[in-house]
Amino acid sequence: MEFFLPISYLNDFVFCPYSIYLHQVYDNNFTDTYSAKPQEQGKRVHSKVDRPHLKNSKRILSGAYVISNRLGVYGKIDQYYLKERKLVERKYNLKKIFRGYYYQIWAQYLALEEMGHPVDSLYFQSIKKNERVEVEKPNSEELNELRTHIKTIARFDFENEIKINPQKCTHCIYASLCDKTNKDHVYA
Ligand code: SF4
Repeated sequence: MEFFLPISYLNDFVFCPYSIYLHQVYDNNFTDTYSAKPQEQGKRVHSKVDRPHLKNSKRILSGAYVISNRLGVYGKIDQYYLKERKLVERKYNLKKIFRGYYYQIWAQYLALEEMGHPVDSLYFQSIKKNERVEVEKPNSEELNELRTHIKTIARFDFENEIKINPQKCTHCIYASLCDKTNKDHVYA
């Protein structure tokens, strides 16, 4: 059976592999229990632009699902500007562009192109500051890095390979529910 990973895992795994496990355990049942302020703010803004009347307009594909058979990933894009061939990934508060963010947008870009939508430029947008930052498309070395990252997640032993970074726990929305730490997150 073919195995596809959600694109969101590419960033979650960089932050903490165990968060993927907890995401699966709690996501469908207790979202309100663990959601912290940044996630709630992000969700509110995303839900506004994900409304059906804004989806698939003549100018922008918003909140559309994409899939890449070559990479073995699927997920939602934020915004794809059809005429400008521009892909935008929004974060509520974009203080830094983490490596996991790059993996996400690279995977979205490759999936879009595989589905017949050419992409000329990639952007991250800070919703809070209403600012956009253009980033380069991945070169061949970075594409290999992305493929290796996906393989690492697919083969990861979530039972035995978990290493805990307590500093990350304080910024993790699952901290209050996580059995690997006694810390609570700073958003409580
Ligand atoms: S609380 Fe810590 S160990 Fe648990 S998922 Fe979050 S970052 Fe990982």
